Amino acid sequence: MSGYTQRVRDSILPRSVAGTLPAAFAEWTFTENTIDHEATIEICELCGQQDLRYHFEIANRYTKATLWVGSHCILQFGVAVLEDGRQLSSDEARRRLAKLTQQMQLQGCVKALERLAAAEANPILTGALDYYRRNKKLTPKYAAVVFWKLQSFGIDHHPSFFQVELRRAQHIEDLRQMPTGRVHRFWGALSPAQRRKAIELGHRPPARRSTA
Ligand SMILES: [Zn+2]
Repeated sequence: MSGYTQRVRDSILPRSVAGTLPAAFAEWTFTENTIDHEATIEICELCGQQDLRYHFEIANRYTKATLWVGSHCILQFGVAVLEDGRQLSSDEARRRLAKLTQQMQLQGCVKALERLAAAEANPILTGALDYYRRNKKLTPKYAAVVFWKLQSFGIDHHPSFFQVELRRAQHIEDLRQMPTGRVHRFWGALSPAQRRKAIELGHRPPARRSTA
C-alpha cells in the first residue's frame, strides 16, 4: 500500500523492529482497550487526525510500545484485530470496531441519564435510566421528558446515540397522541424509518434550524 504519510512512518517505525512499511504494521495488534473522551478533542497518534472522540489502543508485540489511534487507522493499515486468538478478516474487524464504538455510545447515553437522574429527584428520570439500562432504548414518553431535561440541565449528550423503542402498539399510540412539539424534542434520536413513521402518524419534521 502506498499512501503512508511521513507522520505515519514517524509514528510507527521508531516503535517497531522492522524498518519498513508495511512489515512494521504486522507487529501491531489492537489491545481491546478503548477510551471514550466524551468530546471530539483527541488526536490519532498514528496519522495525526484530529477531533476524535474514541481512542483505540494498539501495541507492538516486540517493543511493547503502544499508541492511541482512531479505528480508521486500524482498518486502513490492517492492524491485527483478534477474537479468541484468531485474527479477524478486514470485514470482521470493521464490524468488531463498529460494535465497540456502539458500546461506548451506549455507555455515554447511560452516563448522561445517570447525571440527569442525579440532577433532579424525579421518578420519571430514574425510571428512564432503569429502562435504558435494561432495554438499551427509551420509550417515546421517556424520550420526550429526557431530552427536554437533558437540555434544560445543560447535560452534554448526542441525541443520535440514543435509541427509541417504537415496536409495540402502545409506543406507536403514545407517539401518535403526543403534541408535535414534544416529538421534536427527540427527533434527533429517531431513525429515518421512525421519522417516516412519525410523519405517517401526523407529525411534521422540525423546521431546519439556520446555522447562522
Ligand atoms: Zn489515524
